[in-house]
Amino acid sequence: MPRSQREAVVSRMSDAYESGAIKERLKLTQAAPDWSTEADHEVSRQLSHIHRIFENAGTQPPSAKARALGDVNGLIRVHLPSLELAVELSDGTWLQITTPYDVDDRALVWAQRAFLIVLALITITVVIWLVRRMTRPIDDLSRAVEEFGRHPEIAKPLREEGVREIRTAAHSFNRMRSQIQGNMEERSRIIAAMTHDLRTPLTKMQLRLERVEPAELRGKLQDAVFTMREMIEQGLEFARSLSSKEEMTRIDLRSFVQSMVDDYADVGKQVQFVDETEQKDSPLVVSARALCLKRCLDNLLSNACAYAGSAQLLLQTEKDLAVVSVCDQGPGIPEECLEQVFEPYFRVEHSRNRTFGGTGLGLAIARNMAVLNGADLTIENRPHGGLKAQLRLPTA
Ligand code: ATP
Ligand code: MG
Repeated sequence: MPRSQREAVVSRMSDAYESGAIKERLKLTQAAPDWSTEADHEVSRQLSHIHRIFENAGTQPPSAKARALGDVNGLIRVHLPSLELAVELSDGTWLQITTPYDVDDRALVWAQRAFLIVLALITITVVIWLVRRMTRPIDDLSRAVEEFGRHPEIAKPLREEGVREIRTAAHSFNRMRSQIQGNMEERSRIIAAMTHDLRTPLTKMQLRLERVEPAELRGKLQDAVFTMREMIEQGLEFARSLSSKEEMTRIDLRSFVQSMVDDYADVGKQVQFVDETEQKDSPLVVSARALCLKRCLDNLLSNACAYAGSAQLLLQTEKDLAVVSVCDQGPGIPEECLEQVFEPYFRVEHSRNRTFGGTGLGLAIARNMAVLNGADLTIENRPHGGLKAQLRLPTA
């Protein structure tokens, strides 16, 4: 281009750049631009960047310090977000072109994405770990409270660890646990002591009764003494049901309940055995304290016989549990009393009459005996009348 036209063309192209018609900005200068003031490592970093892009595109890259473009003297540099070129014209002036420059570096983009993904994974893992760590003591606490509600007598203390609030809660729980357990122990000690001490005067009374006249009065008094003796025996039995020295042994539950049912039949009680387990040929082994288990089932069966006249003993399995159900067709228990009947000396109103009801310790003893066997005892009213007591024992 003749020298005289250059200024006009450059100025028109600058207008076009200003109006957005082209992306390149052109400039004419008298001397070469002073690009050497750039920090050297920055220039070479940017040039090696271009190097890679040219390589990716399959063309020859300019040399790291590209000063020659063909036989023309020129300079090139990356000045993000632009690529800048300077070319020396025939008359010694320089034309500078600045054009937008997109870095299309997929490897870099992927490296960044991978970095973000790894960072996110690490963060998520740390957060999950932290949340678990924070909530585990709360889980332990709620499990301990639940367990305590079911079997307060054998509940173990909680470890007091974790953040301060949780440590305080665990500490309060432990204090409550030992207070309640202390009260319960005291209660059984009183019952045991009283019932034990009552035996002696009662025996004396029984002996002296032999001499009471008339015979009708003697008979009535003897009945009363007999009832008192029964109450004392039950009281002692209850006190004993809170702990046991009996060893756990492996027993075949099927033959165990079968022989109990036979014993009831021998004394004329109507108790029927229904085996609903799947593998009837193989023994259904549980580890249990046999005597405690017998006392537990005895109390359930004698209740059914007393309040309903007959009983059905059902044997089933549920995953790794053996379930013994004692069902009857009697009056059942009012829904609001279903938990209370497990309390010592609690009897439903209609059975306060002693010809019918007993001491009110049977179910309390049965539940303690179940706990001593690591089992769960629950009762519910059957939909068509009658009561169902269920004992769930873990199978061995
Ligand atoms: P004990 O068993 O000490 O001689 P009890 O039978 O009265 O006396 P529990 O066995 O603890 O005491 O039972 C508590 C109460 O629950 C009973 O008084 C009775 O009212 C009610 N009950 C228990 N089993 C049955 C049942 N199978 N059907 C109806 N009511 C029942
Ligand atoms: Mg009873």
